[in-house]
Amino acid sequence: MNVKRNRMRTRVTNILQVINSITQLKIGLCLLAVIILLALFAPFLAPHDPFSLNEELLAPPGSQYLLGTDGLGRDVFSELLYGARTSIFIGVVAAAISGVLGTLIGGLSGFYRGRLDSVLSEFVNVFLMLPTALDVVTQGQILKEIMQLEERLNITRIMITHDMSVVATTCKKVAVMYAGNLLEFGLVKDIIAGPEHPYTKGLLQSIPALKGERGELKGIAGSLPDLSKSPSGCIFADRCPSRKPTCETEIPIHRTLADGRMVACHIAGS
Ligand code: SF4
Repeated sequence: MNVKRNRMRTRVTNILQVINSITQLKIGLCLLAVIILLALFAPFLAPHDPFSLNEELLAPPGSQYLLGTDGLGRDVFSELLYGARTSIFIGVVAAAISGVLGTLIGGLSGFYRGRLDSVLSEFVNVFLMLPTALDVVTQGQILKEIMQLEERLNITRIMITHDMSVVATTCKKVAVMYAGNLLEFGLVKDIIAGPEHPYTKGLLQSIPALKGERGELKGIAGSLPDLSKSPSGCIFADRCPSRKPTCETEIPIHRTLADGRMVACHIAGS
């Protein structure tokens, strides 16, 4: 027992000597200790709720906001404290989970050999798909923030996107552009419910349906025209499934349909 204790003491003394002999290591450990303490006591030290949106956007550092505020009016110092807390919590939990799982899997792998490996690789493949799902979740959160900001500041917002599902959920009016040309413009509710221009139809058909029968996604065939040459007819003619002979020779003008939308297509509204 005494031998074990002596060995332990020697190891601890060696570690302390190593730490004491390297200045950078000492500084690093002190900083880490400060960060951990700040993170632990974040609820008592943070002067503001890190999630509350204040009236003062991008305020400079001062007595009210130690490090100023961000673009949404949140106190940066409080965000840092809570951010450190979350990072440390995730780090500790991740290390604990990987330690427990690693020990278990290591033991089982030794017992079942290659069979467990192939099961695990399939399992890992499922998790590799998660970033895609997270992208969608993050996009949803960002869009929500943008809309809250728009309402709070009473501003007008322009969303430039290829994703018609984003337009459908966040906009009132939409201008569908192709190769620098305005093809269809009107209220989102009208255009989503009944697109008139073949390009708009193509964009909407390329969105996967959440309800109903699931079929193959339809894309828009072909590629963008050469913009260095002026088209003799409709700019979308090369890719249009509804193309008529006149489309090749006559540039369609913008026409206003009965519901007030504007469309540049020879067959729209017919
Ligand atoms: S004008 Fe003709 S080619 Fe152009 S979108 Fe309409 S139908 Fe298609």
